[in-house]
Amino acid sequence: MSNLKLKTVTKSFGKAEVIHGIDLDIHDGEFIVFVGPSGCGKSTLLRMIAGLEDITSGDLFIGERRMNEVQAAKRGVAMVFQSYALYPHLTVRQNMGFGLKVRKEKPDTIARKVDDAAKTLQLEKLLDRYPRELSGGQRQRVAIGRAIVGDPDVFLFDEPLSNLDAELRVHMRAEIAALHGRLGNTMIYVTHDQIEAMTLADRIVVLRDGLIEQVGTPKELYAHPDNVFVAQFIGSPK
Ligand code: ADP
Ligand code: MG
Repeated sequence: MSNLKLKTVTKSFGKAEVIHGIDLDIHDGEFIVFVGPSGCGKSTLLRMIAGLEDITSGDLFIGERRMNEVQAAKRGVAMVFQSYALYPHLTVRQNMGFGLKVRKEKPDTIARKVDDAAKTLQLEKLLDRYPRELSGGQRQRVAIGRAIVGDPDVFLFDEPLSNLDAELRVHMRAEIAALHGRLGNTMIYVTHDQIEAMTLADRIVVLRDGLIEQVGTPKELYAHPDNVFVAQFIGSPK
């Protein structure tokens, strides 16, 4: 578990600056939700935290460690994508163990960690299947399982449920809440879904055009939105 700090973080693609200096302190074990319109920079922020994109300026700390130049695999961060990003030619077991294998962990250690994660996510009976033999919800559970096995300090979720139907979304939302309760990791979760944001978040970060518009608990944002933009995003009556 770790706290996470962004200090005046910016990101430019070529000459275009898309993140304009973000400051954010995330507490150890906190469940943070990023919301904001398409293109406001949610995925870019997650990708910088994960180490999949360079930070143009500013600092990223996880725990005491400055992470700007630390490679992705060494940050203690795992990311779950909307598209699941599973390997089609690998079984569930191999997909879940892949990262550990790359890290050269022993086969019996990998087997144990995969079995533990499979139990947590009720995937035990699916371990020998291929992704094409799974439903959308099962695929997303495998993607989450793959993130869990590495025992990350920080989980990043980029709209993980948006490809699922409404009923399954409700179910998976509860699973993610339960997972957070059980693991207690710091989680950063991007969603378009107001209800997801309101039910999952300890605090919600409302983003707009590469800047933070407001940060607060769901209650605070609902009751006291700073402006009409936040109110509309949170669905409060103001
Ligand atoms: P969100 O996830 O909130 O929809 P993104 O983080 O994907 O937004 O994008 C933020 C901005 O950065 C957008 O204007 C997008 O076009 C731009 N952007 C994202 N990735 C790249 C890239 N690889 N090259 C150039 N521009 C990018
Ligand atoms: Mg995005």
